[in-house]
Amino acid sequence: MQLRFYNSLTRRVEPLEPLVPGTVRMYTCGPTVYNFAHIGNFRAYTFEDLLRRTLEYAGLKVTHVMNLTDVDDKTIRGSRAAGVPLRDYTATYKKAFFEDVDTLGIERATVYPAATDHVAEMIALIGKLFEKGYAYQAPDKSVYFSVAKDPDYGKLAHLDRSGMRASVRISNDEYAKDDVGDFALWKAWDEADGDVKWDSPWGPGRPGWHIECSAMSAKYLGETFDIHTGGIDNLFPHHENEIAQAECATGKTFVKLWMHCAHLRVNGEKMSKSAGNFYTLRDLLAKGYTGREIRYVLLGGHYRQPLNFAFDALAAARTALARIDEFTVRMEALAGGSGGAALPSPDWVQKHLDAFGDALADDLNSPLAFAAVFALVNDGNRLAQSGSLDAAGAAAALAALARMDTVLNVLARPAAAIPAQVQSLLDQRAAARQAKNWAESDRLRDAIAALGWTVKDTKEGQRLSKS
Ligand code: AMP
Ligand code: ZN
Repeated sequence: MQLRFYNSLTRRVEPLEPLVPGTVRMYTCGPTVYNFAHIGNFRAYTFEDLLRRTLEYAGLKVTHVMNLTDVDDKTIRGSRAAGVPLRDYTATYKKAFFEDVDTLGIERATVYPAATDHVAEMIALIGKLFEKGYAYQAPDKSVYFSVAKDPDYGKLAHLDRSGMRASVRISNDEYAKDDVGDFALWKAWDEADGDVKWDSPWGPGRPGWHIECSAMSAKYLGETFDIHTGGIDNLFPHHENEIAQAECATGKTFVKLWMHCAHLRVNGEKMSKSAGNFYTLRDLLAKGYTGREIRYVLLGGHYRQPLNFAFDALAAARTALARIDEFTVRMEALAGGSGGAALPSPDWVQKHLDAFGDALADDLNSPLAFAAVFALVNDGNRLAQSGSLDAAGAAAALAALARMDTVLNVLARPAAAIPAQVQSLLDQRAAARQAKNWAESDRLRDAIAALGWTVKDTKEGQRLSKS
């Protein structure tokens, strides 16, 4: 399976060639933990999950790092307004973030480094930039990166540097830095920061946002790695600045492949906290939508196309998922029975799996991947209708869906919640069977049946379903 992705740096679709064959090292800009993330943010994290799972589907071993920005203007402002220490304030939103990640079926990253745990690494990196002449301390005591010193600056955003410098040079004293394009590596402490400060060779203060990602990616992935992702608004200046810091410090290529997703919009505008047009995941759950439905909507559009958020789309997701669930139930019944003709051979699913893989390999074409799922469903339903699907053919459909679901993670029928009373009987029954007390086991089976549940014994243990 040859994967091909659009590289924001070269602006071309390129074959993926991992630096170390068989493995991919990937970095994703994570949340600033000052509030609940909105579903626009989760469009970015869901796209990254699709990427990660596609890489794994293709047999690659992925090391995925996502940072947590737990110190910046917004977190400090929030913690001071709430009157709680920064660490406690951000802990609340870190916890909420992980709950939301789980609700949306996003695979957890390999590591989630927090900025406040890596200030020493950031100071060391700034020190290197000083040594090499790329950093300077301004009269306001903050340390800046000098964009003019880096001839490659602007290569990701394809900036016209000649125009940029002429138009942005500002010499009035509103700006402490030499050039308005220069960005802070280290922000000198001021009163608004309260007790949030670290010592450094340049005085007390805190790291800038951009240096965080350059320092932490190098620590966990090395100085050069395969893929860096984010939402399109991260491309400039954040990712441009990450490249400048990393490459000026090491003299090496920072990242081979840059991937960015387009925005989630509301009525044509980017969903954002500042525009006030946002929904958090919790807002939508409170309206009765499920994580599975929301994930389905977020994955439904190609990641490089803007996606418009609308409640219609959530309603359509519910219908589409019900269709898949009906199909699953139908295939489960057939796979467990002995009816149907012996034709076609289980190979009937292969063309759908091929179409699915091809769609993902072609720059993560998720709409086409879903089309392959529905082609499988339509085909299977047609075969079942005409009585030409045997148990093996139905089992092949279920296996194909399960394989596809390692990437999409929305196809599996959610298990009905097991009532506590049933669970308790189930546990007692497991113990009885362990003790080879078959009479007790049968008694408990009847007790479970009386509550409306059927228990079957399989090689993997007891299997419960609603009667
Ligand atoms: P932030 O917390 O603003 O740094 O955003 C975290 C991630 O969400 C970044 O990768 C952003 O690019 C991304 N993001 C923010 N708003 C949107 C949106 N409306 N649609 C898609 N991605 C977004
Ligand atoms: Zn970043």
